[in-house]
Amino acid sequence: MTKHNFDYLILGGGAAGLSVASGLAKSGKKIGIIEKESKNSNDRTWSFWEKGAGVHDDIVHHKWTHLNFYASKSIVREDMDPYRYKMVRSADFYKKLHTELQTLDNVHYIQDEVVSTKEEKDYVSVNGRLASYTSHMLLDSIFRPEINPSETLYVAQHFGGWFVKTEKPAFDPTTATLMDFRIDQEGETRFFYVLPTSETEALVEIAIFSNDILQPEEYDPMIESYIEDYLSIGKYEIAEKESGVIPMTTYPFHKHNTDRIIRIGTSGGWVKPSSGYAFKRILEKSEELVNQLLDGKKPNVESSPWHKWMDRTMLKAILYNYASGKDAFDSLFGKSSPAEVFQFLDEENTTLENLRIMSSSPIVPFTRAAFARPW
Ligand SMILES: Cc1cc2nc3c(=O)[nH]c(=O)nc-3n(C[C@H](O)[C@H](O)[C@H](O)COP(=O)(O)OP(=O)(O)OC[C@H]3O[C@@H](n4cnc5c(N)ncnc54)[C@H](O)[C@@H]3O)c2cc1C
Repeated sequence: MTKHNFDYLILGGGAAGLSVASGLAKSGKKIGIIEKESKNSNDRTWSFWEKGAGVHDDIVHHKWTHLNFYASKSIVREDMDPYRYKMVRSADFYKKLHTELQTLDNVHYIQDEVVSTKEEKDYVSVNGRLASYTSHMLLDSIFRPEINPSETLYVAQHFGGWFVKTEKPAFDPTTATLMDFRIDQEGETRFFYVLPTSETEALVEIAIFSNDILQPEEYDPMIESYIEDYLSIGKYEIAEKESGVIPMTTYPFHKHNTDRIIRIGTSGGWVKPSSGYAFKRILEKSEELVNQLLDGKKPNVESSPWHKWMDRTMLKAILYNYASGKDAFDSLFGKSSPAEVFQFLDEENTTLENLRIMSSSPIVPFTRAAFARPW
C-alpha cells in the first residue's frame, strides 16, 4: 500500500477540517486532508449571527437585519444592529475552500475513508481504504466518542426543516424568526425558526432538545401544522428538506487530545453546549488553533471555566427540567437587546455583564441547576 507523509494531516474535510487546512496552508508546510465524501452537494445550511464583516461574506446566501422571537411575549422585527444573521450554504463553502486549497502545491486533498489511526513515538499513522499516511500531527474532525448520557450532560438538538416556495409573496426577507416557542413543548424544548431568503422562499424548521431522536419523516406533520397555524403563506411547494442532529454536551472532548492528535470541530467539543450553535465557533476556534500551532504553542482552545460553568448550568436546567429552554431564552430575549444576547452566547461579555444577564434568568430553577450534580 502506498504511504504518504505530511507535516499536518487533517481527518475530515467539513467545516472544521477545511477551515483549519486553509489557515495552516499559509505556513507552506505539507498538509493532507482526508475526506471520504466528494463534498460537492449542499449537505447542510449554516445560520449564525455576526457583528460586521465576516471572512465568508462573499458566499453568504442571505442575511437578515431584524429578528422575531416568540415565547411568553412577542418581539417583532427587532433590529439586530450591529449584528446580522447570516446564512451560508455548505455547497458554496466547500466550493470556495476547495478552489482556494487546490491552487496550493503544499496542500493535498485526498478522497479516502479513514479506517484507523495509531500514535507512535514520533509520528501518527493513518490507514485509509486506499492508502496509508503518516504525519507529525493529526487534526481530527471525524472521531466521535461514545458519550453515555447518564455520565455526562448530553442533549441532542435534532431538527427537521422544509425549504418552501410560495406562489405569492408571503415573507419579509429582512426578518428572521430566530425562535418561535408558541408550539406545544411536550415536556421538552421545542421551537421553530423561519428564515426567508426572498418574499417567496424560506426555510421553516423545527429544533427539539431531547434524546428521543426522530426519523426525518416524523418532522413533516409538525412543520405542516406550524405553517398552517402560524404562517399565512397560501399555496406552497417543498423545494428541499433537511434534518440533522447536533450534540449539546459538556463532555470533555479535550481529554482525547495528545501531543500529536488534536480533535477539532464537533469532535473537539466546539459546538456551544447550551445552544448547539457551532459554525461561527468553528471558524473562530480554527483560527485560534492555527495561530497557536504556527507560533509553536501547546494547542488549547477551551472556553474559560466561567463559560463552561454557565453552559453546564443552562444544560442542567434544561435536561433536569428545572427550567425549560423556553423559559431560559424567554428571559434572555425578554430582558436584553438582541446584541446583548448574541454577545452573551458568543462568550464576549465581561463577568459583570454576564451576571446582569444571568440575574434576569428565572432565579430559582437556575440556582437549583447551578448546584445540582455534576458541578
Ligand atoms: C444538517 C445540519 C445543519 C446545521 N446547521 C447549523 C447552523 O445553522 N448553525 C450552526 O452554527 N451549526 C449548525 N450545524 C452544526 C455544525 O455547524 C455542523 O455540524 C458543522 O458542519 C460541523 O463541522 P465539523 O467539521 O465539525 O463536522 P463535519 O462537517 O461533519 O465534518 C466531518 C467530515 O468528516 C468526514 N468523515 C467522517 N468520517 C470519515 C472517515 N472515516 N474518513 C474520512 N472522512 C470522514 C465527513 O464526510 C465530513 O465531511 C448543523 C449541523 C447539521 C448536521
